[in-house]
Amino acid sequence: MARVYNFSAGPAVLPEEVLREAAEEMLDYQGCGMSVMEMSHRSQTYDRIIKEAEADLRELMDIPANYKVLFLQGGASQQFAMIPMNLMKNRVADYIVTGQWAKKAYQEAALYGRANKIASSEDKTFSYIPDLTDLKISPDADYVYICENNTIYGTKFKTLPDTKGKPLVADVSSCFLSEPVDVSRYGLIYGGVQKNIGPAGVVIVIIREDLVTEDVLPGTPTMLRYKIHADNGSLYNTPPAYGIYICGKVFKWLKKQGGLAAMKAYNEKKAAILYDYLDESRLFRGTVRREDRSLMNVPFVTGDEALDAKFVKEAKEAGLENLKGHRSVGGMRASIYNAMPLEGVEKLVAFMKEFEARNMA
Ligand SMILES: *Cc1c(COP(=O)(O)O)cnc(C)c1O
Repeated sequence: MARVYNFSAGPAVLPEEVLREAAEEMLDYQGCGMSVMEMSHRSQTYDRIIKEAEADLRELMDIPANYKVLFLQGGASQQFAMIPMNLMKNRVADYIVTGQWAKKAYQEAALYGRANKIASSEDKTFSYIPDLTDLKISPDADYVYICENNTIYGTKFKTLPDTKGKPLVADVSSCFLSEPVDVSRYGLIYGGVQKNIGPAGVVIVIIREDLVTEDVLPGTPTMLRYKIHADNGSLYNTPPAYGIYICGKVFKWLKKQGGLAAMKAYNEKKAAILYDYLDESRLFRGTVRREDRSLMNVPFVTGDEALDAKFVKEAKEAGLENLKGHRSVGGMRASIYNAMPLEGVEKLVAFMKEFEARNMA
């Protein structure tokens, strides 16, 4: 068996240790004679799995007691609708559009009310985070929305916008658990887990209790109400049970690594290896404004499409996979999530140096 270094943006690399453990437990979960995939979500065994997952996540992120943690389905994209359906009481919300995912969320919100684009970086292919100093927050906005880490473009909010007291809603799909966060600064944090936590099929929503109400837009389906899921401990219907079990294992793995402060230090070290090289390379360059660079997604180009394609192909042959950039940016993108070992980034940079030497006149 040979595992490759997988730089996919998502679904993405998971800790090998977690995958091995899951493999060991596949046929018989801790002596109960069945796989977690086969067990009732109402069983005591499963109840322990989901409760422990929530407790470990609360510990990792230091989630205050007045926040609910929900394990839902539908991916991050379903939240684009669920957020306005549940939170848009005045039918007004402000959106900062920093990439394709934020734009989709903004467009979805416009189906339900007045979505205001209060800042955008679309003029330069979303290669930077817009100036946040003097945002025109709407006085009647129900919330202010950001996509905190822009998976496709490789930008990250390094400071949070001043929302003038409005709840901040953040899509953290691609930076979830990559560093410590102050949960109390948000009204709602959510993310699909397939980028940095677990298998596709689970989305985690962390929401302040006062935002979980019966007062939702008319016609909101039962399954799309936060309150239903909060009141039922994410077990209103069958949850994505196996996915939650894997997320739980990743939470334990993160605790063993030293928690989110340790992950941040590790992620900074990994990203620096790649960015430092991009800054000195004569062949490759990063596409993002320096101060807005993501620790998780690193897009880069040579400036020559044919050479980019050659790079992606030869990297794959060298065991460095999924480096092709998103079609809207072109070039390459290395996603270096929590589970990407330092060695993977070192191997990538060594390969880039060798490629540069071979392809520069
Ligand atoms: C991948 C991604 C999404 C979409 O996730 P789905 O689970 O496929 O709906 C949304 N937001 C961000 C930031 C992402 O990276």
